[in-house]
Amino acid sequence: MQTGRLIVLTGPSGVGKGTLLRKLLKRHPELHLSVSATTRPPRPNEIDGKQYYFVSREQFEHMVAAGELLEWAEYAGNYYGTPRAPVERLLQLGQSVILEIEVVGARQIKETFPFAVRLFILPPTLAELEQRMRLRDQDSEEAISQRLSHAQTEIEAADEFDWQIVNKDLEEALVSIEAAIF
Ligand code: 5GP
Repeated sequence: MQTGRLIVLTGPSGVGKGTLLRKLLKRHPELHLSVSATTRPPRPNEIDGKQYYFVSREQFEHMVAAGELLEWAEYAGNYYGTPRAPVERLLQLGQSVILEIEVVGARQIKETFPFAVRLFILPPTLAELEQRMRLRDQDSEEAISQRLSHAQTEIEAADEFDWQIVNKDLEEALVSIEAAIF
């Protein structure tokens, strides 16, 4: 049986990856979104096992030591990682899987899965990114400034990716993502 495709979607916090992903999955229900593990506390609307598996640092470190993560990284003071087993199982079944992860993790995936399709979502400008982060109003001022400075570093890595897609117009960005994936 043919192995499924591994798709990596990366981009700075606030760039609209979540919205793009929701729409993409609605249009292509055959795609599977990997649920990451994180030590970040859940936001008010987040459900354990849906947006993330919310785990303690101790649990996360145990997962790393046991080789249970396909990749992992520390981001803004918290750990994030992709559980290995579900992704490998789906790929073996010929299903395509999307990872929504940051730059450090995306680099690890390039090493272990050189055939993964890696996309980087860019904001039209940094000012617009900041505005979107504030509109989202989910994070403290400190978290926003931390995420903004991190965003600049991430954007510098955009050309390491197979595709760079500017999320100016949602529909246009979606069409570009579809073109890259299919
Ligand atoms: P947030 O806290 O806003 O949900 O996510 C922060 C960052 O962590 C985002 O850039 C997101 O793409 C990234 N992220 C989420 N899950 C994973 C993961 O499993 N691995 C890695 N490396 N990054 C992740």
